[in-house]
Amino acid sequence: MNPYDDFLLLILSSPSGAGKTTLTRLLLDRCPELLFSVSHTTRPPRSNEVDGRDYHFVDRARFVELVAAGAFLEWAEVHGNLYGTSTAEIDRARAMPGCSGMIFDIDYQGARQIKSKVSDVVAVFVLPPSMHELERRLRGRASETEDAVQRRFAMAQLEIEHYALFDYIVVNEEVQRAFDELRSIVVAERACRERRAPLAESLLRVGRLA
Ligand code: 5GP
Repeated sequence: MNPYDDFLLLILSSPSGAGKTTLTRLLLDRCPELLFSVSHTTRPPRSNEVDGRDYHFVDRARFVELVAAGAFLEWAEVHGNLYGTSTAEIDRARAMPGCSGMIFDIDYQGARQIKSKVSDVVAVFVLPPSMHELERRLRGRASETEDAVQRRFAMAQLEIEHYALFDYIVVNEEVQRAFDELRSIVVAERACRERRAPLAESLLRVGRLA
């Protein structure tokens, strides 16, 4: 993939319950130029989820077919279900007028795969302020059974072990502050030299003609 054009690929990962979904929604609300990457998953939809908006819900056989066809930029098994980011999602964002970046809500395994393939991706890890607070938030979720809470809490430890894969860590103690930090990362990344290099080079070309 083309490194260093001005299109922003932003990975957001976190252990369940760290508040990543809320932060992603806020970012999408405030940054209309960013598009959400709709993953494929074999997980059954939750009651508030819409096929094609939250996920592309598929069965395992279809998912395996898509893997074999090379449809995914990355895919992984998370909490016993398969999840994957199709390359078609990035093509969709790049083709959309006014869109200058894409947000990937994926786990650390997916982050590792995309980072190994795309050099200028920006990966942000959202962490809770403490494990105690993480447990409290997981228990507050009406959609989860006790068994699922236990599994997700145990998984959180494993996910946090992979913090070194990420370029930034946002601590979500208070949503507005965490959001401000995340927004600052997006603003700073947009202004980094590599992303502004095409502009600088085009200015130079004009300068040479004058
Ligand atoms: P949930 O089932 O709660 O929506 O998501 C469970 C986990 O799967 C979350 O950590 C989420 O970030 C991750 N996930 C969602 N989509 C993808 C994907 O396309 N690829 C990978 N690797 N992880 C994903």
